[in-house]
Amino acid sequence: MLEVRNLSVVYPDVTAVEGVGLTVASGESLGVVGESGSGKSTLALAIMRLIQPPGRVVSGEVIFDGRDLLKLPEPEMVKVRGARISMIFQDPFTSLNPVFTVGEQIAETIRLHQGMNRVDAWAGAVRMLETVHIKEAAKRAHDYPHQFSGGMRQRVMIAMALACRPEILIADEPTTALDATIQAEVVRLLREVQAEFNLGIIYITHSFDIIKALCRRVIVINKGRVVEAGETEKILSEPAQNYTKKLINSLRELHAAH
Ligand code: ADP
Ligand code: MG
Repeated sequence: MLEVRNLSVVYPDVTAVEGVGLTVASGESLGVVGESGSGKSTLALAIMRLIQPPGRVVSGEVIFDGRDLLKLPEPEMVKVRGARISMIFQDPFTSLNPVFTVGEQIAETIRLHQGMNRVDAWAGAVRMLETVHIKEAAKRAHDYPHQFSGGMRQRVMIAMALACRPEILIADEPTTALDATIQAEVVRLLREVQAEFNLGIIYITHSFDIIKALCRRVIVINKGRVVEAGETEKILSEPAQNYTKKLINSLRELHAAH
């Protein structure tokens, strides 16, 4: 469904992503794990073609639906970004606009990408909020992002990301700022929508915690390079690299501390 080949991205001072390859099938979720600064967000942005100068993609292909996204004219890319491949971030305020109600924002996305009229788009937005289990969705659609709690805001962001029924969702540390209970709820929700929408998910995180629960396969990146890739269970039980062992051990310490 989505295949990244030999992708490299440079900023003036650093090669942030170097020769990265990955594949995600529909209905599958792939974990991307690496410590802070390893190039995870850069990888995600490059797939969405959102690297801003002076950052630059210097090599690679992002094959989706038989086409290399890196070669698409921008108007074609606009039809893919946010519609067929969507992204969610750690901070919901990155994707939610504070001056519009959540219903308006989701409806506008649906209207733009699917050419629906306002009434149908609004109904679609309310349905999306129901899908992510926002209670009294019809009423809450009239609320602004700041009127939702952290976990609920994350659900709204997921609703927004799924509004156009994307085939791929890229989640860049979406639960990192949330407490463990709410994290678990978000992961449950992602599993549910993954099955419901036959969604391919790329789940980016610095910890194996959620990868364990969500992703059958994982790639481990260090300094922009893939250092290990394979079945999550196998990598957790027999990590080949010291770097991976360290990431796994920090997870165990975290659990021991609780
Ligand atoms: P991660 O998401 O894994 O924390 P990033 O992709 O954000 O890693 O960063 C990878 C590397 O690229 C880091 O060395 C970071 O300092 C650098 N970097 C990220 N974004 C920029 C930018 N906009 N300009 C310059 N350097 C950047
Ligand atoms: Mg990041």
